[in-house]
Amino acid sequence: MLWSETAHKYRECIEIVQEMQDTILENTGSIDSQILKQKAVYYVGLISVDYSRCSFDDVIQIYNDIQMLPEKEKKVLSLGFMSELYGQLAMLRLDGSKENKRRVVSLIDTRISEKMHDTSMVAKALELVMILRNMKEYDAAIALGEKLERLTENEERAFSEISMADMVIFENVVSNLERYRVEYHQQQIGKDFCKYFLDRVQVVFNKFDDVPGEIVLCQRDAYFMTIAQCDFLCHQVDDKELSANLCNSAIDYVERYLERNLYFGRRCFTCNQTGTATEVQLVCSGCRVACYCSLDHQRMTWKKDAVRGMRIGHEILCPLMKAYRKWKLIANKKGNERALKLRRRLDRECLYFLSHGLGLKGKCFQKKDIPVYEFY
Ligand SMILES: [Zn+2]
Ligand SMILES: [Zn+2]
Repeated sequence: MLWSETAHKYRECIEIVQEMQDTILENTGSIDSQILKQKAVYYVGLISVDYSRCSFDDVIQIYNDIQMLPEKEKKVLSLGFMSELYGQLAMLRLDGSKENKRRVVSLIDTRISEKMHDTSMVAKALELVMILRNMKEYDAAIALGEKLERLTENEERAFSEISMADMVIFENVVSNLERYRVEYHQQQIGKDFCKYFLDRVQVVFNKFDDVPGEIVLCQRDAYFMTIAQCDFLCHQVDDKELSANLCNSAIDYVERYLERNLYFGRRCFTCNQTGTATEVQLVCSGCRVACYCSLDHQRMTWKKDAVRGMRIGHEILCPLMKAYRKWKLIANKKGNERALKLRRRLDRECLYFLSHGLGLKGKCFQKKDIPVYEFY
């Protein structure tokens, strides 16, 4: 079932339950707690579905509806907290004001200090880390990320799976990398930086690479981009061979990211929703790779900052995906003049993307003796 249909069903259920509640209240003069609980389940379902399908205006509307409910109803189950969290996150996504930021950060802080957190809260808190990072609020992103790491460090985890704890570490690595880049790019590369990466990045990234089968990470394999970013950041060295190796490695990781996106299937690039067989899906006319469930979702992903939380806007990815798709079509024909031409074109697009798309222009480290990261 499509998310829009699911949301519609939830709305119907809420109406039915509300009618039942009114009838019972009329006849008996009391409120049935079972009915309240059922209504709460539908409300939480509705708000999370609307959030997942990026209908942030609807989320805010439901959030406001819930605020209007009597206090007794709001307290049932975790309706109060989860709806508050979804509502606050939706507001922050549409308007990254300081006030919106402060409110949602303190909501999560309070929950953690009261030890009331659970997996769904940690997942949403992780999303907040990502949003804060996009807002260039690195200190806040790292502070929250470290709290989440302490919460999840003792969590049981299977080696073959990426756990929430791994995701928390990964997001923290990215936040630290980005802050480092923004703040220290003009300085010499420091020992702490290397130690940080050797100690932590290696563990996480090796694990990401080892995981078997198909995995769809929340940010669609953004970790490839992080490694690419890291390599490209360090590529301006006097040693020509090392410089070329780092550049090639960066391009290689961008390609792995593109490969995953090319086979993402008929899912909307904004909300991840799979299209049905009969449904018309919009395909980007530029690259003919990106699919969307609606025009709204196509617009939403075009610019990086259109909706906070989108890491890389499609505007900058589009020519890259186009170059990749074209090259893939004839890549196997060795010695083919056209294949070579398309390959050179793809390399150029990759380098342009690395320097502009990831915001690294003029920010690369320049140092003669940059250490080689053995884990690549
Ligand atoms: Zn969509
Ligand atoms: Zn495109």
